[in-house]
Amino acid sequence: MDLGIRGKRALVTAASKGLGRGCAEALAEAGVDLVINARGVEALEATATALRGYGVSVTTVAADITTHEGLAAVLQAAGEVDILVTNAGGPPPGSWETWVKADYLKAIEANMLTPIALMTALMPGMIERGWGRVVNITSQSVKAPIAALGLSNAARAGLTGFVAGTSRQVAPQGVTINNLLPGIHDTDRATALDSGMVKARGITMEEARAERSATIPARRYGTAAEFGATCAFLCSQHAGYIVGQNILLDGGAMNSTL
Ligand code: NAP
Repeated sequence: MDLGIRGKRALVTAASKGLGRGCAEALAEAGVDLVINARGVEALEATATALRGYGVSVTTVAADITTHEGLAAVLQAAGEVDILVTNAGGPPPGSWETWVKADYLKAIEANMLTPIALMTALMPGMIERGWGRVVNITSQSVKAPIAALGLSNAARAGLTGFVAGTSRQVAPQGVTINNLLPGIHDTDRATALDSGMVKARGITMEEARAERSATIPARRYGTAAEFGATCAFLCSQHAGYIVGQNILLDGGAMNSTL
């Protein structure tokens, strides 16, 4: 399917690896010029080189997107964009008994206020041009809380509330905002969470992975490529009637009727 976005310009934050990279790659394949960001230069440049293979232009900004300076550097390099995919690392696992205010503030900064700041800066240009697409990478924890990821549950719920209201305000101007909610995907983040189980329970990585896969009706982890393909569709010309949705990509893991 032609996504109809060849020649558009996109910013994808936290995009050197994992789900962010999957989104950037699917957009590159659709002919979209990219600005991509991550903290580590090496992986970021390697990803940029791979994406240029699709014949699109790729600008890199090595910075922590959750800091004031990082956000400013990314926005300066991005200029005007038609498509925004927001992403950042997820908060660490832990327990409500030990988290203090600083832990919550950090999670809120990374997973709520940073995407909101990106949207606030970039949506006015989209509105002026009468077309725009925003996809926020959030988590299944928004719909079905994961106890050990309480910081994620809390911060991402705030972003979800913001998107629910704001998406209806910008839709009349041709701008759509939607959230993509990953369940378990085969990325460094999933490996880190598996390692946590290995340490806590004295099991092997294979056992940890098999145990978590068994909880998913699809019986496997998702891939960054299939996640990216869904993201690119939401950014396409065909998705203009999808507004303010929270789309779960979890292999059926959340058991619910609606
Ligand atoms: P990942 O494989 O660890 O990749 C994270 C990417 O983001 C890397 O490119 C990393 O590069 C970059 N990054 C992290 N923190 C950053 C920051 N502060 N500023 C700029 N770039 C940053 O993670 P992932 O699995 O793709 O996860 C992406 C998001 O989805 C996370 O918020 C995660 O919590 C959420 N999620 C993932 C899963 C899953 O199963 N994978 C499930 C639910 C939710 P640098 O480290 O070099 O900056």
